Amino acid sequence: MDMISASEAETLILSLVHSLQTTEEVTLDNASGRILARSVSSTLDFPYWDNSAMDGYAVRYKDLQKCDRENPKTLRIVEEIPAGIQPQKNIVQGEAARIFTGAVMPQGADTVVMQENTRRKGDRVVILQAPRDREFVRRKGAFYQSGNPLLGAGIAIGAPEIAVLATAQCTRFTVYQQPRVAIFSTGNELVSPGNSLKPGQIVDSNQYALRAFVADLGGIPLPLGIVRDRPEDLERTIENAIARADIVLSTGGVSVGEYDYIEEILAKLGGNIHIRSVAVKPGKPLTVATFERGDRTCLYFGIPGNPVSALVSCWRFVQPALKKLSGLSGDWQPQFVTARSRHDLKANGKRETYLWGRWEIVSGGYEFSLAGGDRSSGNLINLAQTNGLAVVPVGETAIAAGEKVNVMLV
Ligand code: AMP
Ligand code: MG
Repeated sequence: MDMISASEAETLILSLVHSLQTTEEVTLDNASGRILARSVSSTLDFPYWDNSAMDGYAVRYKDLQKCDRENPKTLRIVEEIPAGIQPQKNIVQGEAARIFTGAVMPQGADTVVMQENTRRKGDRVVILQAPRDREFVRRKGAFYQSGNPLLGAGIAIGAPEIAVLATAQCTRFTVYQQPRVAIFSTGNELVSPGNSLKPGQIVDSNQYALRAFVADLGGIPLPLGIVRDRPEDLERTIENAIARADIVLSTGGVSVGEYDYIEEILAKLGGNIHIRSVAVKPGKPLTVATFERGDRTCLYFGIPGNPVSALVSCWRFVQPALKKLSGLSGDWQPQFVTARSRHDLKANGKRETYLWGRWEIVSGGYEFSLAGGDRSSGNLINLAQTNGLAVVPVGETAIAAGEKVNVMLV
């Protein structure tokens, strides 16, 4: 199996994933970050009733058609209607009701004159400027009519969606279950962060980085810890991970070294291996396999152990898969913008190269700066604060400072 391009890998990975079919009910209180599995509709119109968009006076448009400062019209105030009160009076010729923003329009009135265009005189109001017909009235059902779809399946629920659902009194609804993502690290050299280091040992940062990555995308991380480079241990962990998770992320052990066993174990356990390496830097050795278990498919990502490569692989290849699996509709692919590079960007020309750093918007345009310090993929420290990856395409070895570059948003 040949090395494939990043975009071929992305297309292939997305073709292997199907949105989860399992759903559950949630309430407004715990819906944030979830994805609607069924379209929601409401039995209420919105606005619920005709109401005023201003503090002012509810009037009959007919009464005021030709008034202005030279020829003001005086109306008798028959009622005051604060928000939350049902009006009692029917407005007839020559009458008005004092009304406040959000309050229900009284019968007979069709228009609101804003307070600023009036002068109060005891129980009368002088109108100094003719309103437009139906001005400042929010009509019942103008924004939404009951029974229509309010929010569609595949929409991610955030603060604005919660506001909409609450307004429409949709307090329970069906969302997709969150993808379960098993995560483990492989390597004889690894120890967990709390332990003192013996010579040659390395802290397992990937376990923690990947957990955060998965949780940020709405998945449920299932951390399975560190597994030694021993085929029996790896086999047991992988089998367990496949049984429990929709996606498995393992880091390390996918290169061609003596201790890199992942691929042969995946094959032994009946995995269908789709990708072995991708022409990207960092992150070339990437193993992607699927396992059929009953009516479920489990997608396995064998990710390189190098912490920079691991995160770049997650951003570039795992992210779209996780988004699609989660039931999110629309664009699963990473977003790219064109930016002006502030630095010279270098690449080997053979693989699509991802250089980490930060973009910002300067005078309306994107600008990209490389992360400071050493830029070898062994340097994990300067990955902090990364918000973008500049992409140098295959065949190019340099992009000069001041030139345009594609930047993947992360
Ligand atoms: P590997 O892909 O297993 O050959 O690992 C490549 C490099 O990444 C080696 O220097 C490892 O020590 C390092 N590494 C592997 N796994 C982890 C991990 N979980 N956390 C931090 N570094 C790791
Ligand atoms: Mg290793």
